[in-house]
Amino acid sequence: MKTSIYHITFFDANKSLYIQFHNCNFRCLGCIRRLGIWDSHLSREIRDILMSFYRDVESVYLSIDALRSIALYTKDFLDARIAILGGGEPTADKMFREVVEILNGIDMEIRVLTNGYNLDRYIDILGDVDAYIVLSIKSIDRDKHLFYTGRDLDTILKNFVEVYRRGLRISIETIDIPGFNDPSDIEKLAMYISSIDPSIELIIDSYIPVPQTPWGRPSETEMLEAGKRARKYLKNVYLRGLEISKPIGNILLIHPPLPLKVSPCNK
Ligand code: SF4
Repeated sequence: MKTSIYHITFFDANKSLYIQFHNCNFRCLGCIRRLGIWDSHLSREIRDILMSFYRDVESVYLSIDALRSIALYTKDFLDARIAILGGGEPTADKMFREVVEILNGIDMEIRVLTNGYNLDRYIDILGDVDAYIVLSIKSIDRDKHLFYTGRDLDTILKNFVEVYRRGLRISIETIDIPGFNDPSDIEKLAMYISSIDPSIELIIDSYIPVPQTPWGRPSETEMLEAGKRARKYLKNVYLRGLEISKPIGNILLIHPPLPLKVSPCNK
């Protein structure tokens, strides 16, 4: 049976595989995937080739056996040690449990980037493999959350508390979206997180404008203000792009392969 894994890249700076799932159970208005589904760390040229060649993304979905082979290959030849599951929403894949088992079976450290909605279904196995959870909360305001994601906030908060209570490692991510999720909103989120544990890490990302949304990118001043407000309640707050940077080093395309012939040969 196939997974919905369609794309894998390798970052040699931290020996990690970024494994992307195609589907998602949310419909976030500002989803960055509206700008493109291929890893933005790859060059524009490579992304353009992937975009034009693999229009039918489902055709490159991996089976569990193919995923195992790729993971083993990258472990043996590239020394891959960390599997980061993202996308898309990894837990929206019916094969998610099998994917986690396969990767854990070859001693990969597992990190899951998730919207948290389905986490309750997988807390047991994620706990068993000592996975690290990065839970994205788009807004701590119930109405705004529903408006932006199409899903209720309460389920996510319930799962967050349960994951923490069961002892899994967890960080929270949010996005500074000017006019929607402002520094004052992020302060309220930080207050909520601190009511669970003030040492839980909060990562604040800056919004990247996508078409048909009214929001722009936050200024550096606004990001710093969001960080300052969050730090009133939390010990570990990081601003992505300002205080923590993007991965460096070589980034390799692992799946799908670049087509051997990109354009017809005229010779
Ligand atoms: S949860 Fe993430 S992948 Fe899914 S729609 Fe929202 S931003 Fe996009």
